[in-house]
Amino acid sequence: MSDPRASAAVGQAIRQGKLPHPTTLRCMDCGATATCYDHYLGYAREHWLDVQPVCDRHNGARAWAPGAKERSTSGFSAVLIRLPIWLIEELDRDSVESSRSRNSQITWILRQRYPEAAAAHKDDRVREEEAAYIWQVG
Ligand SMILES: [Zn+2]
Repeated sequence: MSDPRASAAVGQAIRQGKLPHPTTLRCMDCGATATCYDHYLGYAREHWLDVQPVCDRHNGARAWAPGAKERSTSGFSAVLIRLPIWLIEELDRDSVESSRSRNSQITWILRQRYPEAAAAHKDDRVREEEAAYIWQVG
């Protein structure tokens, strides 16, 4: 059950430019154009802005998947970062060519940059593909 106060907080953050509109993002589960934000940590006040962009299909799927929220919180963290639009466009072009979501593409790039750390966390690769990512909005 969603909490209208949590939705209102997200709406306000979007209007204030603190969160991008979800339709400018990709679904964290499938890479399709997102349509909304999922409160993946639930609706407690401290998590009102802990959201992940998702498409309608996955927003629905998440609501019904048992344990989905618990799984998505294990071992993943993220930050909302501001990047120049040209860089996002470049990244998205690259993502499409590589058949990766934007998030997977960034993860892939960072793994190239930090090969030793990536090698030490090989096991994350599987979870990374099946699990949703955490976005902490600061
Ligand atoms: Zn999706």
